[in-house]
Amino acid sequence: MTAARDAELSLALTALRLRVARAAEAAGRDAGDIELLPVTKFFPASDVVALHRLGCSAFGESRDQEAAAKVEEVGGLVGNDPIRWHMVGRIQRNKARSVAQWAYAAHSVDSPKVIAALDRAAEEALDDGRRPAPLRVYLQVSLDGDEARGGVDVAATDRIDDLCGAVDSARGLEFVGLMAIPPLNADAGEAFARLERERDRVQRRFQQRLGLSAGMSGDLEEAVRHGSTCVRVGTALLGSRPLTSPEVVTPVTPSSQTPDSPELPESSPPEGSSQ
Ligand SMILES: *Cc1c(COP(=O)(O)O)cnc(C)c1O
Repeated sequence: MTAARDAELSLALTALRLRVARAAEAAGRDAGDIELLPVTKFFPASDVVALHRLGCSAFGESRDQEAAAKVEEVGGLVGNDPIRWHMVGRIQRNKARSVAQWAYAAHSVDSPKVIAALDRAAEEALDDGRRPAPLRVYLQVSLDGDEARGGVDVAATDRIDDLCGAVDSARGLEFVGLMAIPPLNADAGEAFARLERERDRVQRRFQQRLGLSAGMSGDLEEAVRHGSTCVRVGTALLGSRPLTSPEVVTPVTPSSQTPDSPELPESSPPEGSSQ
């Protein structure tokens, strides 16, 4: 950790807070209703510690293996209690147990199998005191229907209702909202408007105020304009990520996957993100 990096992060955080405040003001919203979630994937624990000193108390990670190690390292440096970790990347079913161990929230849940696995793992963790509260879950929706990139097709309202219902009734989980990443080359404003309409629809159905995890470095203003309550920001705060990491070249052995698991290996870049 260097003084130069600390200063860089401090400046970037100030600029980012200003962006969120201006976006909120332009939308006639209270900036306090919008959480700024730094996404620290690929960046070292020392950056998390520096941002923590600057007042950040929640962080997003997109890969279980990297996150679990970082959570432990950061915990050793600042004490575990004050930090809430969010899983923002795709979750493989065989990683549910680990995710339920370190994550306060999961933003990218989009299948019945993952819901069941997370519920089971979170319930066990609740029962033996490893979790203080249920895992907060955002259901991810796909705004262009390309479910291979993650999320449930926004047009498949029956399936969305079923999955939201499954999360809502799971004892180990708490249903907190919807999440989406705009399709590649899409107009972010139109994409987030569609997401906001779907959030409103689901909200009416579940009679519960729901959050919206939407907006990243390049499009957070549009997301805030359309009701985002959590912007997930990496690049604008921490700088460019490397194009590859050591994990990307690590082959996934057949034994590390369950036979009926069609999910991509964890080393795949998060869909839709600007890797
Ligand atoms: C990496 C990532 C982000 C952050 O993206 P930036 O464009 O760097 O701000 C946000 N959401 C998810 C799901 C990510 O994987």
